[in-house]
Amino acid sequence: MRILLTGAAGFVGSHLADRLVADGHIVVGVDNLSTGRLSNLAQLARSASFELVEADASEPLAIGGPLDWVMHFASPASPIQYAKDPIGTLRANAEGTRHLLELARDRGAAFFLASTSEVYGDPLEHPQSESYWGNVNPIGPRSMYNEGKRYAETMTTAFHAMLSAPVRISRIFNTYGARMERDDGRVVSNFIVQALSDRPMTIYGDGSQTRSFQYVDDLVEGVVRMMAADFSSPVNLGNPVEHSMLELARMVSTLVGSQSGIEYQPLPTEDPTRRRPDISLARELLGWEPMVQLEQGLRRTIDAFRSEGEWPTHA
Ligand code: NAD
Ligand code: UDP
Repeated sequence: MRILLTGAAGFVGSHLADRLVADGHIVVGVDNLSTGRLSNLAQLARSASFELVEADASEPLAIGGPLDWVMHFASPASPIQYAKDPIGTLRANAEGTRHLLELARDRGAAFFLASTSEVYGDPLEHPQSESYWGNVNPIGPRSMYNEGKRYAETMTTAFHAMLSAPVRISRIFNTYGARMERDDGRVVSNFIVQALSDRPMTIYGDGSQTRSFQYVDDLVEGVVRMMAADFSSPVNLGNPVEHSMLELARMVSTLVGSQSGIEYQPLPTEDPTRRRPDISLARELLGWEPMVQLEQGLRRTIDAFRSEGEWPTHA
């Protein structure tokens, strides 16, 4: 198949591009390199099955040739990145999703949306299943991202009937692995960088808030299985094993073997208190569940960060 993939130079997009090319597909990556980097795609540089178009996915794209899938993964994804560019984040998810759905409609292609567990906001239901509508502040500090993704889901659902090919909506929970940006403020990359450079690990709040971390290879497998399934409503893709940030800090510190202490910092406003996916639907529909345990995935990620060498003086 020939697949258009936005956000291809990012953390998740580059791993997905690797997998799609390895599976024998042709991938046309689109990225404006705002939070991604070309080095994430170095392994594909000589592949005849991959090309990168540097463009803004919020604008209509002039991509020639047939397309079987349009996959929309372009969006700032970490709290500091989307807070830095609120309008760009809204545009990538609102205008970008609309233009890409129109492209899919015009080419007879299927459409895949990378949505997020953030659509559940600070959830009042735990764990979160796809039937939960969420607890989201439309003008809160995360609203450019979570409302942008909610709108993207709505737009995708509204277009569904107008497309000749199917749509897919994945609600992705916190994902980690090699190629995460070291300084985009996400907790896994922050803790690894801090531990590797023997600086205090910054815990926001008292560290009792929870997340459920999924290794990137598990996510990619889930995405590929969703493409092959026959289901157009949202599907959670995440690891249901939940940890507090204090537990995560201790685990990273032990795995790195660092002397880093802990430095408590203020909890950002409206930071979700807990998050864990109910993946019953993905299990039933895709026969999928995460295979990589947190300790194993962290070891791989720490090794990847180590092999990249020098450390920044901030995290
Ligand atoms: P990332 O920042 O590493 O990758 C995003 C990529 O999109 C970058 O390469 C960036 O340059 C590109 N991009 C951003 N805006 C663009 C635009 N307007 N036009 C073209 N390219 C643009 O983030 P990621 O973690 O790889 O996230 C990828 C997707 O997965 C996002 O849609 C994100 O919302 C979703 N997601 C990620 C996670 C996670 O834990 N990593 C969780 C939920 C959802
Ligand atoms: N966090 C933390 N220390 C850090 C970075 C983040 O304690 O150095 C916390 C953050 O407040 C949140 C959790 O870790 O409660 C996950 O943050 P991240 O930005 O990785 O993901 P998200 O909040 O988008 O789920």
